[in-house]
Parts: sequence; structure tokens; C-alpha cells
Amino acid sequence: MTSDLPALLRDVAQLAAEFRAKSAETPHAPRRSYAEMRAAFALPLPERGAPARQVIAELAELVEGGLANMVGPRFFGWVIGATEPAGMAADWLAAAWGQNTGNAHATPASSACEETAARWLLELLALPLESSVGFVTGATIANFTCLAAARGEVLRRAGWDVEADGLFGAPPVHVVLGEEAHSTVFSGLRYLGLGAKRVVTVPVDEQGRMQRGAFARAIAHLDGPIIAIAQAGHINSGAFDPFEEIAEAAHAKNAWLHVDGAFGLWARACPELTHLGHGLELADSWGVDGHKWLQTPHDSGYAIVRDAEAHRRAMVIAASYLPEGKERHPADYAPELSRRARGFPTWAMIRALGREGIADMVRRHCAQARRMAERLGAERDVEIMNDVVLNQVAVRLGTDVDGAEADALTDLAIARVQREGVCFVGGANWRGRRIIRISVIGANTTDEDIDRSAEAILSAWRAERRDRAR
Ligand SMILES: *Cc1c(COP(=O)(O)O)cnc(C)c1O
Repeated sequence: MTSDLPALLRDVAQLAAEFRAKSAETPHAPRRSYAEMRAAFALPLPERGAPARQVIAELAELVEGGLANMVGPRFFGWVIGATEPAGMAADWLAAAWGQNTGNAHATPASSACEETAARWLLELLALPLESSVGFVTGATIANFTCLAAARGEVLRRAGWDVEADGLFGAPPVHVVLGEEAHSTVFSGLRYLGLGAKRVVTVPVDEQGRMQRGAFARAIAHLDGPIIAIAQAGHINSGAFDPFEEIAEAAHAKNAWLHVDGAFGLWARACPELTHLGHGLELADSWGVDGHKWLQTPHDSGYAIVRDAEAHRRAMVIAASYLPEGKERHPADYAPELSRRARGFPTWAMIRALGREGIADMVRRHCAQARRMAERLGAERDVEIMNDVVLNQVAVRLGTDVDGAEADALTDLAIARVQREGVCFVGGANWRGRRIIRISVIGANTTDEDIDRSAEAILSAWRAERRDRAR
């Protein structure tokens, strides 16, 4: 089709390199709005095709001004990794090689690469080496996949085969989780027919952790199949649930314990931080992201299950046209059959950073989060709401102002920070307050970036207060 493939790839390389070269000084928020982008893209369906090089040139022109600088060094919005070069390049090759990575015999190289990447992940995260790993799109689907394995196994123990017979007539499954579980966990429960509201919630402390002893009390009176869900890395505070006591209470009830560790699980890759997740290795399954702390391209997450057979029973795809065998088939551990070779970018990022590089990066981000908290917390009317144990900082502005007004001013300050573009931070609601939530997780952030960003946030905040006083 394309006669000039090398030229096309050179064009793409050029565009990508230019974008990356500028990312340190490009404003972090998009300059143009969604409405403007819709208008730019609102083209009629093309009747005739065009050469690929022209298509790519058009695309690069259309996105102008509408890309967020999520790979920039001062992007602290949500919890988003920086798509580092080794992973990005491996992902390009994954596309170029066009490996539909479902079956080990059909795509031996990408399947074997994934298998090794899986083992490396288990070693890095210090999780049981017998666990199976499904390569999925992110923690949302990782949690879903693990919870599917959990549902199958707790019902199997109750004499029910949910994979064959579904949930109709099945013994009820209790789901127990912390009051501040991540919203995507509830999505997983919905997809699985377990219901987002049909849950037992465990009260949390001021860091969003399950209160000590509360989990054991919550499940004490429950009978029958139980799935418990704990969290490593609260989205606002970075806090960890008290896993050791949760695991003990869960297993005393023969419950399945799942851990949502989208970014927090990576604390285990850093020796000084392993104490945070102490005891979480006792769980039965773990959901974690690649595209957050490991800096792989989107989309990348891992569903890790101690009982590989339960994992496989929940996800196996039996198709007569696929070669079988005893090997690990990638599709048997993820919801999709056809998918990209996600093992390549994961393998490449672990190979590029090494165990030491990953530990150094996680350690540095946590130190930078503390640095950010010190800089911001030094301001008279600013409060850091969390213990900065990891990479997340929850900031409350206007401690001397009435609540509703402080919330409104906080939103104005966030908008100003984004507009001015030195850095990017987002907002969230937590403990009845509007907060700035800062996630230090991009690979290229330096201490100087932290200082510059803290200054930008404080100056935006002071400007909003001045405007209000007028
Ligand atoms: C980001 C996140 C998720 C969802 O992960 P995706 O990669 O967006 O699917 C789930 N739980 C926690 C704690 C998260 O931080």
C-alpha cells in the first residue's frame, strides 16, 4: 500500500522528536479547548483516500494546540506517567510488527517477551512468583480481571460454577471494601454483576485508610463467599490500608483479598518504602498500572493473581481455531482475544531502568512530593492535608477563609495555574473540601521543576486572593 514506508516513518520520528524536545518548556495544559478541537476535526467523511504521509501531516496539523503536555516534567495532574522513550519505541515496533498477541504458538516472540516481563514484574513488586499476570489496558481492567477470578473462586468453594452457570441462583457474594475505594473498583463490580452499591463499606481514617480493626469488625458477621478489596496508594493521600490485619481477618473467613495498587504497588520496588505495603503480599490478587509509575505508553496494566488456575478459569478463551498446549497463552489471562503486544513496552521499560533505576525513580518522586509539600505548606494560608508517605500531595488553600469561598478560590487558582502553563495540577473533592491534588510521577521531573511549580502555584493562589480582596 505505502510505497514510501521509510519516509513515512521518518516523518513520524521527526514529529515525535520535535514534540518531545519542546515538552520541557511547552505549557502543560492544552492551549485550545475541546470545542475548538471538535471544530478542527469536524471534517466530512473522505470519499477518496490519501497517501499515508499526507494523512500523517494532516493529523499533526489538526492536533496543533490541542495536545496536553502530559510527558512534560511539570505535569502533576491525575496520576499519569510520562511515556518514556524505551517503552514508546517498543510500542511503535509492537504496532509495526503487527503481532496479535493472544496465542503463544501464533506469536511466540511477543508471548515469550510477555512471560519474561511478567516474571520481572513479580520480582520487582515482591509478589508470589507462582502468580499469573494478565497484560491489560490499565488498573481498571486489571481490577476487573482479578475480581472475576475472585468471584469464580469464592463461588467454586461454595459449590457453584459461575463460569458455567452465571450468577442466577448463585449463593450471594459479599463484597467488603474501604469507604474511599477508587471509583473504578465499583465499575469492575458493576461489570461482574456484583453491583456497585451492594457492598459493605469499611470506615476510613483521615488519610483514607481503613481504620484499624474496622475491617475485621465489618466481616465478622458475614457468612458465605466474601471478596475483600483493599488499597495500596490512596488517590489523594497515597496512603496504604493496614494489610497485615486485613489479610489475617480475610483469610480467617476464607475470603479472597484483592489489592488495588494502581500506582502504590510500585512502592515495593523501592527498599526504603516496602514497609508501606507490608503484608500485602498475603493477598490473593493485585491490580497495578504500567502507564503510571513504570512510564510505559498507554495503555498498560497488569492483573496479578496468586491462583493462576482461578485466573485462567475466569478469562480463558476456548476457540477451536487456536492452537492449544500447556503453554501460557496471553489471551487466557486477559478479557481480550485480539490485542497489541503489551509485553514489549513493559519489557523495554524494565530493561531500560533496571531494578535500581526503578527504585531510584520511585524514591526521587517521593522525596520531590515532600519537597513540594514543604514549599506549599510554608505559606500562611495553605495546608497539606495528607501525610506525604508516597508521591501524592493533597493541598488545601485558604485555611482562613470560609469553606465554600475557599473551595471557589481553589478552583480559580487551579484554573490560573493551568492557564499560566508553568505546571499542571488538578482538583479533587476530599474530606468535604476542594483540594489541589498533586501527583509527582513523571520520569523527568527535577527538584528545580518542583521549586518552579511550587512558586507558580503559590503565585497563582496569591493573585486569586488579591483579586478577591479588591
Ligand atoms: C489510576 C487508578 C485506577 C484506574 O487505573 P487506570 O489505569 O486509569 O485504568 C484505579 N485505582 C487507583 C488507586 C488508581 O490510582
